[in-house]
Amino acid sequence: MDWDVIVIGSGFGGAIVGSRLAEKGARVLMLERGRWWDSPRNAEALGRSPYPRGIGDAWVWNQAAPERENGWIDFRAFPRMSVVQGAAVGGGSLIYANISTEAPRAAFDGGWPAEITYDELKPHYDRVAAFMNVMPIPAGQWTERMAFMQRSAEAIGMAERFRPLELAVSFDPDWRYKADGSTERVEASSRFVNAQGVEQGTCVHLGNCDIGCDADAKNTLDRNYIPMGIRHGMEVRPLHLVRCLEPLAGGGYTVHVDRIQDGRLVPGRVTATRVVIAAGSLGSTELLLRCRDQHGTLGRLSPRLGEGWCSNGDFLTPAFYPGRPALHPSKGPTISSAITFLDGSQGERFWIEDGGFPNLLADQARKLAGGRIRNLRLKLMVEVLQKLLRAHPEPFPHVMPWFAQGMDRAEGVMDLRRRFWLFGEKRLRLDWDVESGKAVVDAIVAMHKRLTEATGGTFHAPLNWNVAHQLVTPHPLGGCNMGRGPTDGVVDHAGKVFGYEGLYVADGAIIPRALGVNPSRTIGALAERVASLM
Ligand SMILES: Cc1cc2nc3c(=O)[nH]c(=O)nc-3n(C[C@H](O)[C@H](O)[C@H](O)COP(=O)(O)OP(=O)(O)OC[C@H]3O[C@@H](n4cnc5c(N)ncnc54)[C@H](O)[C@@H]3O)c2cc1C
Repeated sequence: MDWDVIVIGSGFGGAIVGSRLAEKGARVLMLERGRWWDSPRNAEALGRSPYPRGIGDAWVWNQAAPERENGWIDFRAFPRMSVVQGAAVGGGSLIYANISTEAPRAAFDGGWPAEITYDELKPHYDRVAAFMNVMPIPAGQWTERMAFMQRSAEAIGMAERFRPLELAVSFDPDWRYKADGSTERVEASSRFVNAQGVEQGTCVHLGNCDIGCDADAKNTLDRNYIPMGIRHGMEVRPLHLVRCLEPLAGGGYTVHVDRIQDGRLVPGRVTATRVVIAAGSLGSTELLLRCRDQHGTLGRLSPRLGEGWCSNGDFLTPAFYPGRPALHPSKGPTISSAITFLDGSQGERFWIEDGGFPNLLADQARKLAGGRIRNLRLKLMVEVLQKLLRAHPEPFPHVMPWFAQGMDRAEGVMDLRRRFWLFGEKRLRLDWDVESGKAVVDAIVAMHKRLTEATGGTFHAPLNWNVAHQLVTPHPLGGCNMGRGPTDGVVDHAGKVFGYEGLYVADGAIIPRALGVNPSRTIGALAERVASLM
């Protein structure tokens, strides 16, 4: 065997299982399809890709042609439901908004194998929180949106439902906003070395959480768990897309993998005694579906493979507050707090969060200004852009992006289908029925409306939902669900694939139901538990 363990994917499942197994002494290889990204200050020296910032950068991951497009965002459009996910060493932690939270007890009321309860997961939750150094935004640093969330909860007479959330971000307790904006610059960030020996900076509210932090303030997996694994001998190979697994006679697996190099796919294979699939809800499910239904290498996989998928009830409604004090959705951590209805008091279980988005225009202008521009037309364009930004430094300062997650029903089904009946390549397909999310999304929209009206904003009914019934989720869950046996799940409570010795799934794909909150800490806690039982 080339390796004791091969881990496929390096997100919350893969990074944690891989690093913990390396810590226990296993020889671990981690194969990740995405790039190794870093902030502009580190990228060149470390031979990594700088975070995308402007036109022409590597924004898109194209699963059908990764040799051509292997960028930051993997956006998959299916009928009625689209999914956004990351492609990176560190998986979704690079693109995510850093919210790290436990699922409520109610999320464990049913649907899980008997071994998985909130109390069972609690010590694993705590390990993840400690390792990722999570904390809420310190007092004195609240964003406008966070203070507005608190006022909004009061405005509907539910002040007690507001709560600051924990973020996997490093903060300097002494940092404060200054009226001249000088504190919201990379240079204002304090540098420090974290517990894993990696240099980071503190948060200076750049607002770019979802596209990579220039100040290195996000406590992403490539700055904590993965360096710990590497210290224990784990090898990480970015730009390695796993295509198929094949059991070996006598135990172990051959992993067939394409290396993305110079615009080509270079096929290769590696072997290991144990394989942990952690390619995310869509990635792990697609890989196993291909092994079972296309290559025929894992024919005994459960018939439940692909079933039990949910969107975790994600929904966003922008509200407008023209002529009112700015809410600055592009300043500060993207999400910071919640107003919770997870107790079911509104008939459905959900919570409302403040959303945000990066100021891409400002990023583009900064990027262009940083380079030497010879082309006259481009120079002119940059000058116009900079003038525009001087007059309007933020494009949408009066927008409140009300965000939410809730408990929808896990009834989505993934399978492989040809695009044109008998012709064309088989592609992953997601069949999601609007009915499985309708009750909770309607309840979320009603609460967004109530909050907007109570705070004097203008509410526009979300046409994507009310008319088109099209949703987008960044929180795909399920597909290789945990179960008691192969008739009701694909893996057991410890992530072991039913019917195959030494094969595991450990990521969002094994979560059998909606959590109603941001899922990364629960995925991490399950991964800690899987690693502790291997
Ligand atoms: C914009 C955005 C914001 C978000 N904000 C939050 C938040 O604030 N809090 C929160 O809890 N969650 C958030 N999420 C969700 C969170 O990122 C995911 O729930 C989490 O990353 C899932 O972890 P995972 O281990 O299941 O998969 P991932 O983290 O997605 O990791 C899977 C990895 O496997 C790789 N991979 C896939 N297929 C293959 C293959 N065949 N071969 C090799 N590698 C492969 C992928 O590139 C990826 O790196 C956000 C997501 C998005 C998109």
